[in-house]
Amino acid sequence: MAAAEDKDGNRRLVFLGAPGSGKGTQAQLLAEHLRVPAISTGEMLRAAKAAGTPLGRRVGEIMQKGLLVDDDTMADVVRDRLSQDDARQGFILDGYPRTAVQVETLEELLHELGTEIDAVVTLHVDEEELLQRALARNRQDDTEEIIRERLAVYHRQTEPLVAHYRQAGKLVEVDGMGTVGEVARRLTEALAR
Ligand code: AMP
Repeated sequence: MAAAEDKDGNRRLVFLGAPGSGKGTQAQLLAEHLRVPAISTGEMLRAAKAAGTPLGRRVGEIMQKGLLVDDDTMADVVRDRLSQDDARQGFILDGYPRTAVQVETLEELLHELGTEIDAVVTLHVDEEELLQRALARNRQDDTEEIIRERLAVYHRQTEPLVAHYRQAGKLVEVDGMGTVGEVARRLTEALAR
């Protein structure tokens, strides 16, 4: 009974982690397992860019530089997505929130929808490993300079959110070193606790 409650209770999750931490992969695996959508704001913006929508044209250059898109734009993107039917029974947010303002926006948004975040997962990976993984991914815009910029942006703007969620008692910290399968197992165990 308690296990079933725990499982049902962990359906609204945020993945917080540096670029290259494997959070996208783990978010997707867990989403399939929980049967909830994995919502990656980065993927949404890349799709908008590829489709040449007004949003995509507006954010393209910022993304190219490894910088963050402004909070107001991101609020619209996330509000639209979380309001869709498939997100009503749960979701995994990958890549949002990334700033203190986005944390507040998300809280307000979920409050309007009559719900809240159950847990925030953070994956810990060594800095050198982060760089190696990001380089290996070899996306078109993944030059070492851009990757370093993205890491710096993460440390400056997003890492402070870890302390916020820890204080709120929502943080689940997982060792992100090792294979995809090893990390997935650790993650499932940590969420079941
Ligand atoms: P990602 O795939 O999550 O690393 O996102 C790729 C890029 O999209 C980032 O480097 C940002 O330029 C932009 N982006 C994605 N999510 C956000 C967000 N929550 N806030 C600001 N910019 C974002």
